[in-house]
Amino acid sequence: MRSTLTGGALLALSLSMAQAAPALPGPNFPQFASPADVKAKCDAGLKGAKQRVVSLEQRKVDAGWLSAYDDLTVYLEDHQGPNDFILNVHPDKAIRDAAQACSLRWADFGSSLGQNEKVYRALQKVPKKDGIDAEFVRLASGQFEDSGVALPKAKRERAKQILDKLTELDQQFNRNIRDAGTRVAFTEAELKGVPESVWAKAKRDDQGRILLGVDYPSYVPVMRSAESGPARQRMWLAKTNEGGQANLDLLAQIVTLRGEYARLFGFDNYVDFNLRRRMAKDGATATRFLDAVTGAVNEREKAELQELRAAKAQHVGTPLEQTRVERWDATFYSERVKLQKFSVDQNAFRPYFPPQASLEFALRIIEKTMGVKYQRVDNKLWNDEAQTYVVSDATSDKPIAQMYVDLYPRDGKYNHAAVWPLRGSATRIGRTPAAALVVNFDRNGLTLDEVETLLHELGHAVHVNLSSTRYAGTAGTTVMLDFVEAPSQMLEDWVYDKQVLKLMQEVCPSCKPVPDAMVEQAKAAKQYGKGSQFGRQHLYASYDIALHQSSKPEPLPLWAKMEGATPLGHVQGTMFPAGFAHIAGGYGAGYYGYLWSLVVAMDLRTAFAADKLDAAVGKRYRDLVLGQGAQKPAPELVKDFLGRESNSQAFFEYLKK
Ligand SMILES: [Zn+2]
Repeated sequence: MRSTLTGGALLALSLSMAQAAPALPGPNFPQFASPADVKAKCDAGLKGAKQRVVSLEQRKVDAGWLSAYDDLTVYLEDHQGPNDFILNVHPDKAIRDAAQACSLRWADFGSSLGQNEKVYRALQKVPKKDGIDAEFVRLASGQFEDSGVALPKAKRERAKQILDKLTELDQQFNRNIRDAGTRVAFTEAELKGVPESVWAKAKRDDQGRILLGVDYPSYVPVMRSAESGPARQRMWLAKTNEGGQANLDLLAQIVTLRGEYARLFGFDNYVDFNLRRRMAKDGATATRFLDAVTGAVNEREKAELQELRAAKAQHVGTPLEQTRVERWDATFYSERVKLQKFSVDQNAFRPYFPPQASLEFALRIIEKTMGVKYQRVDNKLWNDEAQTYVVSDATSDKPIAQMYVDLYPRDGKYNHAAVWPLRGSATRIGRTPAAALVVNFDRNGLTLDEVETLLHELGHAVHVNLSSTRYAGTAGTTVMLDFVEAPSQMLEDWVYDKQVLKLMQEVCPSCKPVPDAMVEQAKAAKQYGKGSQFGRQHLYASYDIALHQSSKPEPLPLWAKMEGATPLGHVQGTMFPAGFAHIAGGYGAGYYGYLWSLVVAMDLRTAFAADKLDAAVGKRYRDLVLGQGAQKPAPELVKDFLGRESNSQAFFEYLKK
């Protein structure tokens, strides 16, 4: 790993290692030695959890009950959490499989607990000493009610069956993608235009063709830069069909079961059931919002496509009226237009952003604005390349949290970018939070888009790490799902700020500063691509809602119809929903939350308009938003910080700009 670092990054690293390394404020992430070890931990963990439920049932409902209830949350985080995490990242498939089996047992435990009437009744009469207690009780009660605790017996049993089945189906859906091992063969000539670093070391088949996976570091450069249309087409088809027919069937089952689940509670569809405890409140409100978004970007999307068409006609030498932009052309020609119009080449950013230095740069931003310090420590994790950071409060020097980072792709690893909240804060017992940040970056460096992704994910990790809530049950990212992306999205456009980018040289003195002009051009190009970007997000979000509103869900026909109605159309035989893991899992009927959160994120940014590194504003943000987790409803957090109700003005101004 170190050989890929620049000298500067190594230097910065060794300096920070030379300082007295602080001890981890919380326990280290556990090791899983073998499938048998996974099973033994699973058995012991479940046994302990069941005993704890029994003692909670028997416990007197006094002033200490709520803490005892939160102790159970803590226990689950510490025993179920690591298992559910390693099934996504452990390098050993046998261990991932064992963890998956264990995860189903935990899901069964969880759905039983969700229907535990004794615990639920105790929760209804527990003494509450203040608003924080009251909000915790309100949220926890909602979770029990959503699990079916208040349903008549027959419906309750069916609810539990459905919940358990949904966990299993979602697991299968993800496993089909993770373990697909898809490889696409290309000749060197077909990869003309793709940086050699992407394919030079790749395996070859017996005909000498280069075999590339569909992981981001391989997929994105091919879609962006391969001159050959047929090569891009093959890559795009492989990625789009990754989950296969099996996943389409799974998705249909998942959505059907969710519909049945909502009807057990007297709702017409899963969307209204799912949104009633969110900012949007119901499907009609979410749909109205999505309509407003598409209204604002529709014409722009069409105009952008016309430019792509002209670029393709020029490139392949066909008359404009006979030129059609295909799905696998869009990224390629959009890059060309950006290059012609704004002289922007995302690949040109890689030399300025080595992965390790980029991570340290992102951490430096948080250090400057939020009054914390990150120190890397030597520590054994699930993989030798995974790193551990101790987060300390800059004023008191006290270690307050830990963060794990897993930067590079490998076979069988979760292939998107995400953060797992492994431990939630609980000030009542001095419990410090822990987060795991998982991405898949190119070892040769990051594009500016990828630096943006890194900041987005770091935003989630910071939300976990700087949480300072009384109860683990309301810590950090336990906030409403249509708010949870806001702190992450807020940070995304920090990468277009010259003053922010200067921090790169603080962490990597030998890294060449990225020229201001390149950043300005990237910023202009981003404005330009808004039509297709928001058009696509709108399609994903409205598909998710429409699918979950249909009485007989048919994922592919619905997708073909909705995608077919967009300017780029649908390609017969492709099955994007088969890889749409978001909606098979926790974002089901909630994908609109990305756009909804962005409205809040852009509103939050207005407080940093004068200076993105303003430490005073950052401190208020840390205390009033991040630190509070779900102790207060999200709209109140935003109001406390901005000093007014949140509104969508900044968002719609941005769309129209
Ligand atoms: Zn996110």
